[in-house]
Order: sequence, then structure tokens, then C-alpha cells
Amino acid sequence: MALTLEQLNAAPAAEAAALLDGLYEHSPWIAGAALAQRPFRSLAHIKHAMVQVLAQAAPEQQLGLIRAHPELAGKAMVSKTLTAESTNEQDKAGLTDCTPEEFARIQQLNADYNARFGFPFILAVRGPRGTGLRKKEIIDTFARRLSNHPDFERAEALRNIHRIAEIRLNDKFGYEPVLGNDVWDWQEKLSAHTDPGYAELGQLTVTYLTDAHRACAQRISHWMRDCGFDEVEIDAVGNVVGRYHGATPSAKYLITGSHYDTVRNGGKYDGRLGIFVPMACVRELHRQHRRLPFGIEVVAFAEEEGQRYKATFLGSGALIGDFKQEWLDQKDADGITMREAMQHAGLCIDDIPRLQRDAARYLGFIEVHIEQGPVLNELDIPLGVVTSINGGVRYVCEMTGMASHAGTTPMDRRRDAALGVAELALYMEQRAAQDGDSVATIGMLQVPNGSINVVPGRCQFSMDMRAPTDPQRDAMAADVLAKLEEIARRRGLQYKAELSMKAAAAPSAPEWQRRWEAAVQALGVPLYRMPSGAGHDAMKLHEVMPQAMLFVRGLNSGISHNPLESSTADDMQLAVDAFTHVLNQLAQETA
Ligand SMILES: [Zn+2]
Repeated sequence: MALTLEQLNAAPAAEAAALLDGLYEHSPWIAGAALAQRPFRSLAHIKHAMVQVLAQAAPEQQLGLIRAHPELAGKAMVSKTLTAESTNEQDKAGLTDCTPEEFARIQQLNADYNARFGFPFILAVRGPRGTGLRKKEIIDTFARRLSNHPDFERAEALRNIHRIAEIRLNDKFGYEPVLGNDVWDWQEKLSAHTDPGYAELGQLTVTYLTDAHRACAQRISHWMRDCGFDEVEIDAVGNVVGRYHGATPSAKYLITGSHYDTVRNGGKYDGRLGIFVPMACVRELHRQHRRLPFGIEVVAFAEEEGQRYKATFLGSGALIGDFKQEWLDQKDADGITMREAMQHAGLCIDDIPRLQRDAARYLGFIEVHIEQGPVLNELDIPLGVVTSINGGVRYVCEMTGMASHAGTTPMDRRRDAALGVAELALYMEQRAAQDGDSVATIGMLQVPNGSINVVPGRCQFSMDMRAPTDPQRDAMAADVLAKLEEIARRRGLQYKAELSMKAAAAPSAPEWQRRWEAAVQALGVPLYRMPSGAGHDAMKLHEVMPQAMLFVRGLNSGISHNPLESSTADDMQLAVDAFTHVLNQLAQETA
């Protein structure tokens, strides 16, 4: 019979430890120490307690745990001396059923990996969905991780061990993240639609109003209907809008959502997660025949990434009356104007101005998004509450000095434009770090017409600086520009710095941020606040109504805009639970 939280919380220590036996390979001390945190409020709480125990353990203990694991499809599997848990996992991943070639390949990888890191390769082979990775995925991941830095790889091994323990714990409790699985599956199914040229390569690319893009809109609208939304429509710019009515016709709406377009060769979760999490919540409300004192409007935004046309945030922009008519004349790489693409898709261009929402009819906007960064993954925390979407400023710059002979010009007589920029780059690194949460990047850096034997006379470069508040961003930018001036004067250089973009920060509305915080705490997972380094649809809605975002941990160092982007069904379930909690809080407040 499945274990319950009550049972675990009530059991004497030794018995409780026995109940959690086998979560960590040959290492009962981890669950044992975590029991000190009883009573547990949730499975997520137990998981995090164990994460903390291991994080506080000595490095030798961590290494001991890693070394307690069997090799993948290794000797222990062949001689059938694996623990019952490991046998089950390696079996489910098909590793007990390798072809001779696959087996030989894995043995080679095992040998190379051990030689490089001194411990066995550990992978949660049941994967992010819990149903098992394919053998090819396992072998590809194995090969990829061989090139990791040893410190990083050791941490990655521990993260996989926690994921293995998470799945084993779920099994013990007979728990399945049912709604998280559904959200995961919707994303998987939607990723079947990809633009021509990418489909053949197995890559996901969905750009504005392509066949794949319109197929996605159809799919999402059908799923919304199945989930019990009262109204579903594809609007004049291609947004899919689902409305679930409130208890009364005059009820205000909570608006939420994210985008369904992708970058080229992107991930399956960027944007889409923020559509399917609220969709799952609405389906549950509908199943319970439950109406809230407010309606819920879920918008799958048609365009956020600016891939096919230069216009970005087109979908959310239209909702705040910020669709620019001149966008219609922009051309894609094939010379097709946006107007033509919209006409081809059957969208009513004349209706676009009517998409603008009356903010007075809305409570606010919330958005769930995969983090797209390494922070939560590194901390082993599933959810993050966003404090602000960073404001940014960009400059396109050029430094000019004197091109001269690299052999004959003594070091103290040079006016090297590239070195001036190099000095500035190092200053920017240090200046941004000083704030803690600012970032500064020189992403473009070149010496036009440079030669191997010429001191650089010109250097073109870009600057991108972001911070959680506008004053913080402006203070950093002012310091950087002052430094640029000082470097140029001291080194006898001239410079131009042209402002090319300035976007205001979008701090979360305090009451909405608090609702996410209360939700996260109620789930028994640690509360972690963080700014968003990337831009999101919430930035646009911010201009007309209060907003706040929730981040979900990404795997593989939170990589995004990349096919390796990933997240677990367990974390998606937590996002659904947190969203539901916010709905319930709002229902109480507005009742
Ligand atoms: Zn996104």
C-alpha cells in the first residue's frame, strides 16, 4: 500500500527512516537527516529537505554518494547485482535490452567518463516525464556531459541523483504529477508542428503565421474548448484567446498567458508552459463545475520572439493598443509582407485596433514561464517568484585610435582602439557584478579590416546593460559611459556611443508578487525571489495593468532558445498547484 504523509510524519524516527529507505543509493543517512524537518507539509517539502541535507554535507560525503551508484548498463547490471530500484530504472530505459553496438558504445563512454571524472556517470534515466528516456537520448546525454567542467559535472551528477530520488519518492507515495504530465504532454504534442526546413532536422521552429504556426493555434484552440473554456477565438493578430466566465456577467477578468511562437531551433517549453499551466487549472475548475468571482482569460500570444519579422511582442502589444501600423509593411526573408501573411492566414487586419483591452475590466496579468537561466537549477529550487523584469539599455559604439605597425610601434606610443574597448569590457564586468543583480555585455566586438601585424586603429562594439530598476540601470550606464570617456582620454582615443534601445524595467506589482509568494510557500517549497533577465509578454501588459510572473526551473543549467531546454513534469505540476493557489486566494479576496 502507498505511503501517506500522515504516516510518515507520525512514525517514530527509526520506522520513518525505514519508510524512506532506498531513495538515495546505499545512503540512508540523507533521508534520515531530513526527517528532522518533520512534520512535512508536502512531498515537495520532503524533497527539498533532502536536497538541503546533501547540500550541507561534506564534499567527500557527496562524492561517496555519487560513487555508490552503479555504472549505466555496466557490470552490476550484467551480473544482476543492482539494487531493486536501479534494476527497475535501467530496465525501463531499455538498458537491459541493448544491441551489442549500443552496449559497446556505453562501455566506452563509461570508461572515458570514469577516466575523466573519477566517478560513474549518473543520469535519471526515467527522464523529465518519469516514463523513461529513449536509449538514443541517454547515449547523447552521456556523450555531451563528457565535455563538462569537472566541478559542474559533479553538481550535475548530484542534481540527477535528486531527480532519481524524487521519482523513487513519488513511487513510494503512489503519487503521480497528473496535471504536470498533461501540461508536459501538451507541450510535446504541440512541438510536432514545426516550420519547413526544420521539421526534417527534428528541430522546433514556429515563426509568425507559417503553416506550423497556424496549426499550433488550431491545436491550442481545440484543447481550450476540450478544457471547458466558455469562449475560444483566434483574434485578428493570431492570438488564441480562451475565456472562462466568472460567477456573474459583470465579473472582472484575470488575464494570463504566454507566447506559442519559438526562436529557430528552440525549446518546447519557452512560452508554451505559460499557456498550458492555466489551461490545466481552468479544466479542473470546469470539471468541478466551479465558477470564481472573476473570469479567467488565457491568451496564447501569437508572436513574442521577433523571428520572421522585426516586430516583437506583437501578440501582447496588440492587447495594449501598441500594434504599429508600419509593421504591416515589414517583409520576411522571402519578401512576404506581414500584411500579406495576415491576409493569407485569414486574419482581419481592420479589427486589430479593437483588440485593445480596457484595463478597468481586468484584475491584473500573471505569467508562468520557464526560467531560461541557470539560477533555480543550480540552487535545486523548483519555482522562483519574479521581482522585476529587467530594464535594459543598448549602445552601438565605435572606438577610434591610430592604426600603426605592430612591430615598430613601442607599447607606450600606441593608440590601440581594441585595448581601450578591452579595458572597458573588464570594467563593465566588475561594475555590473558590484550591483549583484545587474548584467552588462559586450556581445559584438570587431576590428574592421584588422591585420595580424597592425595595431587596431578602429574597434566597433556593442553594449547591453540590464537591471531590475531603471535607476539602477541608469546609474550603471552612467558609470560605464564615464569610464568610456576616461579611458578614451587617457589612451588618446576617440569614441562614438549611440543609444539604440532603452526599455523600462517592469517591477512586479507588490500585491501580485505576494500572491505568488504565498502560493509557493503553501506548497512547501522554498521561496526564492529573482529578477527576470529576459523580456516577456508581461512587460507589455505592465504598461496598462499590474503584473507578476512565476518562473519554473529549467534542466541542463536552465538552457533556453535551444533544443536542450527542459523541465520536469513534477515542476510543471508545482506550477499548476501554485497557479491554482493564486486563483483561490483571489477568489477569497474578491468574494
Ligand atoms: Zn518566452
